Amino acid sequence: MSFDFEKQSHRRLNPLTGDWVLVSPGRTKRPWKGQTEPPSPENVPAYDPQCHMCPGNTRASGEHNPPYARTFVFENDYAALRLAGQPHEQNLSGLLVASAERGICRVVCFSPRHDLTLAKMSVAELRAVVDVWIEQYRSLGSDPTINSVLIFENRGAMMGASNPHPHGQIWANTTVPNEPAKEQTSLLAYQRRHGSCLLCEYWKIEKKQSQRLVCENEEFAAFVPFWAVWPFETIVISKRHFGSVDEFSDSERDTLADILRRLTSGYDKLFETFFPYSMGFHQRPTDGQPHLEWHFHAHFYPPLLRSAAVRKFMVGYELLASPQRDITPEDAAARLREVDAKS
Ligand SMILES: [Zn+2]
Ligand SMILES: [Zn+2]
Ligand SMILES: [Zn+2]
Repeated sequence: MSFDFEKQSHRRLNPLTGDWVLVSPGRTKRPWKGQTEPPSPENVPAYDPQCHMCPGNTRASGEHNPPYARTFVFENDYAALRLAGQPHEQNLSGLLVASAERGICRVVCFSPRHDLTLAKMSVAELRAVVDVWIEQYRSLGSDPTINSVLIFENRGAMMGASNPHPHGQIWANTTVPNEPAKEQTSLLAYQRRHGSCLLCEYWKIEKKQSQRLVCENEEFAAFVPFWAVWPFETIVISKRHFGSVDEFSDSERDTLADILRRLTSGYDKLFETFFPYSMGFHQRPTDGQPHLEWHFHAHFYPPLLRSAAVRKFMVGYELLASPQRDITPEDAAARLREVDAKS
């Protein structure tokens, strides 16, 4: 008898990180008595005089935002990383190991409109955001102290974004952080072993099987990865092999804008809410090396499980042993495909 992935618990390997996820289908049928989250606030105004990102307003630092018309980038007033400071290395018996870390943190306002989201913006407006991301990756990456540029967005109060104004962040620093570093090791090992790219080969399989595909256009595809941890986690990959946003063609700038808009509006339709998520781009470090092993992609990690009010928690077994999911990635992809078809 063939193995039924929809019925029997099993674990799946994430070849990008080497981590395993436990898949336990059917577990969402259990009665829910845990926490529910209040729905996100409706009727957000187009301009909020209290918002530190709206055009013309004053920020906590005392600086004034210009009356910007499209996008606006500023240095984070509460930056987690700064360029100034002394170098320092500590290693006590290989046990108390630390080093000074330098970097730059910026905020990117996607629109002057306080009430918009990526899903509600037009492809042309989103293209302007893509252009800013590319400019920022180039300019930050050209600084010799900056070797990694992480572009990301936390959306929704559930993900810790206290301000609904559409915005993302860029943290650029000297060392490559944990997640992209793990992926880089795997991508490089795969390339050395097989002489090809892990994600190019993986995309061939996803395309053929098509059961985890959510949507695609000429140059990008979005799907629930085989090893997804979060219920409706997705990965967006470029169909062409290249390492970073600064290698985008003119058309890829538009098609990335298109697939991001499609995916985020599908998420909103799934539970008829402003779907919260953390999303970000994984790409080539800016250390001056060619890094041909890197294949540009984006990850979306949304916390919602069954409705706008019920989220997934990473607790218990997940904190102490391994992540676990209840609905299969194939099932999650089918539901996302259904809402995508309605758009
Ligand atoms: Zn605002
Ligand atoms: Zn590739
Ligand atoms: Zn990645």
